[in-house]
Amino acid sequence: LRVLHTAEGVWYSATDLLNWMGCAHRTALDADALDSRAPRSKDPEGPEQAADVVELRPYGPDGPVFSAPETARGDMHERAMRQSLEAQGLHVEEISRESGFPTAEGVRAAVERTREAMRAGVDVVFQAALLDAPWFGFADFLVRVDGVASDFGDFAYEIRDTKLARHPAASALIQMAHYGAILEKEQGAAPPSLVIWLGTGEAYSKPYDDAAPYVLEARRRFLAFVEDRPTTTGQPCSACDRCRWQGVCSAEWGDADLINVHRLTRQQRLQFQDSRIATIEQLASAPNTARPTGMSTKTFDRLREQAAVQTGTDPFVLIRPQSRAKGLARVPAPDPGDIYFDLEGDPFAGTATSATLDYLWAYCDATGTTYARWAHDEQEERAAFTWFMETLQKKDAEGGDWHLYHYNSYEVTSLRRVADNWPDPVRGMAWRNEVDRLVASRFVDLYFVVENGIRTQKGTTSLKLVERLAGYERPSVEGVVALAADSIVAYEQYVMSDDDDLKARLLEGIRVYNEHDVRATLATHLWLHAVSAELSQADLEDEPEQSPPSEKSLERVALIAAMRDRLLAAVTSDSGARA
Ligand code: SF4
Repeated sequence: LRVLHTAEGVWYSATDLLNWMGCAHRTALDADALDSRAPRSKDPEGPEQAADVVELRPYGPDGPVFSAPETARGDMHERAMRQSLEAQGLHVEEISRESGFPTAEGVRAAVERTREAMRAGVDVVFQAALLDAPWFGFADFLVRVDGVASDFGDFAYEIRDTKLARHPAASALIQMAHYGAILEKEQGAAPPSLVIWLGTGEAYSKPYDDAAPYVLEARRRFLAFVEDRPTTTGQPCSACDRCRWQGVCSAEWGDADLINVHRLTRQQRLQFQDSRIATIEQLASAPNTARPTGMSTKTFDRLREQAAVQTGTDPFVLIRPQSRAKGLARVPAPDPGDIYFDLEGDPFAGTATSATLDYLWAYCDATGTTYARWAHDEQEERAAFTWFMETLQKKDAEGGDWHLYHYNSYEVTSLRRVADNWPDPVRGMAWRNEVDRLVASRFVDLYFVVENGIRTQKGTTSLKLVERLAGYERPSVEGVVALAADSIVAYEQYVMSDDDDLKARLLEGIRVYNEHDVRATLATHLWLHAVSAELSQADLEDEPEQSPPSEKSLERVALIAAMRDRLLAAVTSDSGARA
């Protein structure tokens, strides 16, 4: 909650509104924490002395919710946009503000400087401070639009914000409409547009009037919520991953909660709760009659079996029966020509054609010998792609029964992405055809095999867990990189640093990490092939010729139907909700 306690009460930001829209329990927990930490003025009559800040930083359980790379890249994007405005000959007035978390006085002073800049009619106000208590916020840019009458004259300002995303998100529009609502009061005219400068450099524009009614209604409901807080409970949701209360809620749910069952969705958890099944133990021993209405027998059986494995003592069990085409039976026997492929990609390194740069291309052969190419820009990425694809084409032409093994879909997606973005579309199409041909004939996704072939007691099928089942041990001390997320952070440090020694150490840390990934994939292949021998013909089943709709899609259709019914009910019963 980026909230300020002031002498006039509590001020809220767009982050508070968005957090509440994501999970009201989060707002309730924030508010409880703020209540317990609210500043107590020695002199309640003295407004300036009473004004103070209670800060709940937007931190998750393991550190900042926004990673260092996101923050650094966000700042770079913002600076680039400022430079592009200046290059157009526009005067950009930056509103200075105190460093760190804002204070009430600091916000008021910055708001006053923003007003002065707007009254003076500057072209662009950068880091504008906006306040219409109890709402406040800091907009990246206010840009002057001539010919729109406002309290300032024959011009008004519109909101422009920079976002790293390559597509506009609803949350960005809500945040900007929140700024727009404050700006409308400030200048006596609605801002004409909300403009998002995307990570691609493109501008996405939306009329303010399209978003404003929704945001004003959301703000009204938010204030009603914080003023008269109802009792809330935490329900796992998409906001949890970036929530500072994750540790608190996880502890409340406990290890026994159904949320810890592998591939059990939030919706299924609610369905089970309706059937009075709340823990993994209860699900593991649930009778057939406990299957929730609307859940297929296949899904119920899968989840119950998974719960049984997670409450059992075996580190893993083979799924019986399992698909001949998808499970362990599809793992080819080891071949001296086999290779094991793994990419390291950075979702922030952004090239002209893609948000992601795959900066390390690596594989090992059947002996564990590794081969790698670095790619620090788009051209080098294409060179690494060509090197890798030509290696595969040469091996393919030589024949043999070798296969390429990888873990999960990232590598195939990347190969297709690079081919599809080739500058010469004819060449790109030829590459794409080659990728598809080799994927169909030579590639084996071991993650797919694991998901369809075994259930693990730990309830995860990540390579880091499966490689341990396979007996692969990574050294406990690996330098700077131990996880895929660390690899991205290390690479971003490499990009931003001018220190050659540090850069070399960072790349070496990533290289060693990746080397373990490809060798762990090799170990996993050998292990999966060995355990597949435990399956008899009776354990295998063929896929039906024409697969019926998947359980996932059927459940999604049911979910959408229920949501549609709720929306229609609201429209007909409450004209306010309709607005
Ligand atoms: S962890 Fe999830 S359920 Fe708990 S407060 Fe945060 S968003 Fe809500």
